[in-house]
Amino acid sequence: MNAEIISSGTELLLGKTLNTSAFYLTGQLSGIGVEVHYHTTVGDNKERLLGAVQQALSRSELVFLTGGLGPTADDLTKEVISLVLDLKMNFDQKSMVFIEQFYKDNNDLPPGSEKQAFFPEGSLILPNDWGTAPGAIVKKEGKYCVILPGPPAEMKPMFENYALPEIQKIISGYNRMHVRTLKVFGLGESELELKLSDLMKETTPFLTLLDKHTYMDVRVSVRGQDEKTAAEILDRTEKAIRQRLQNQIFGINEETHSQIVGRLLREKKQTLATAESCSGGLLGGRITSEAGSSDYYLGGVVSYANSAKEGLIGVKNSSLLKYGAVSEEVAREMAEGVRKALGADYGLSTTGIAGPGGGSGDKPVGLVYLALAGPNGTLVEKKLFSGNRESIRNMTVETGLNMLRLDLQNMK
Ligand code: ATP
Ligand code: MG
Repeated sequence: MNAEIISSGTELLLGKTLNTSAFYLTGQLSGIGVEVHYHTTVGDNKERLLGAVQQALSRSELVFLTGGLGPTADDLTKEVISLVLDLKMNFDQKSMVFIEQFYKDNNDLPPGSEKQAFFPEGSLILPNDWGTAPGAIVKKEGKYCVILPGPPAEMKPMFENYALPEIQKIISGYNRMHVRTLKVFGLGESELELKLSDLMKETTPFLTLLDKHTYMDVRVSVRGQDEKTAAEILDRTEKAIRQRLQNQIFGINEETHSQIVGRLLREKKQTLATAESCSGGLLGGRITSEAGSSDYYLGGVVSYANSAKEGLIGVKNSSLLKYGAVSEEVAREMAEGVRKALGADYGLSTTGIAGPGGGSGDKPVGLVYLALAGPNGTLVEKKLFSGNRESIRNMTVETGLNMLRLDLQNMK
């Protein structure tokens, strides 16, 4: 969180008063981890003060102002803040009572004193234990103006007793990172970057792409906003990303593909059976890693050998001979066969060459067929995965889950 200090007072520019307030505040702020990026000193001149405040708010989240809180015409700080932030000046009765009390105890109320009881709307008023001018913290659109009196003897106790606790609160909320992660299947990092290129140029929110091997995470983060604003920014960005990626987004945050598929099966009251060759039970393992999966998962067959494919789930011997175990036809018969054998709504199958050996010219390592037999017929996908045995098998599982998810999501 960046801060800057505007010291106002013509006396500071005449070489008559040393700007000790900027020095003091900078030390205090550095001490609590707030970086001060600029010091500006400006005279009691409305136009120049306005320019200084505008510039400060354009580049810093926290702007500290000292001076210009008195009752006279050259005390301009609150008025200028209200102009720059487009806020009305509201009268604060409590402050007025305090000021009147101060003068009852001392001299008579000077003319123009009520001016000290006016603050930009929404101000958090900071009491002045040593003078008449209360300070204030004014917030708008994630920016804060901290208004403090000129005399150091008033400014320091106000800062330490009243402003500092509020600043601590602001920075703890400000530094909180708000994150939402969208999980994307079926797109590589560069394709994803291309689709999101305009959003990736922004800094609020900030997008990061993380390769999770079988899928991609699009991490959307917002820093320096309150809960509500951050949620709005994240919602808006999620919507924009969903428009571009549609159903390639399979989940958010900590959700897993098997969790989502499980939820959909339960919601749609569908059951599942699996027939696995190259994934060797990994798919069933993933599905049953979810508690309560017995609600929708009937079981699976690890039909690794041709004899198991034929004997247990009714793959035709002729198909195995004609097309081979790694083929569209066999994948289809495996899915349809296991669906029938277990009496499930869906049958999901995998057959492929996980390597490192076993590949050939027309059937290289990484070639995998997956089939999903369901209420609306059978869908077969041919994939050529790269990587080692482990990643090929993991990609197979993820692809199977994805096929099932899409089918369930499209189900009326
Ligand atoms: P007042 O009610 O006294 O007018 P104010 O908030 O308007 O309060 P100024 O008039 O700007 O404050 O300053 C009052 C006095 O405080 C100055 O005469 C000066 O001696 C001292 N002062 C103001 N700003 C600073 C500063 N940045 N560093 C050191 N002293 C300062
Ligand atoms: Mg002054």
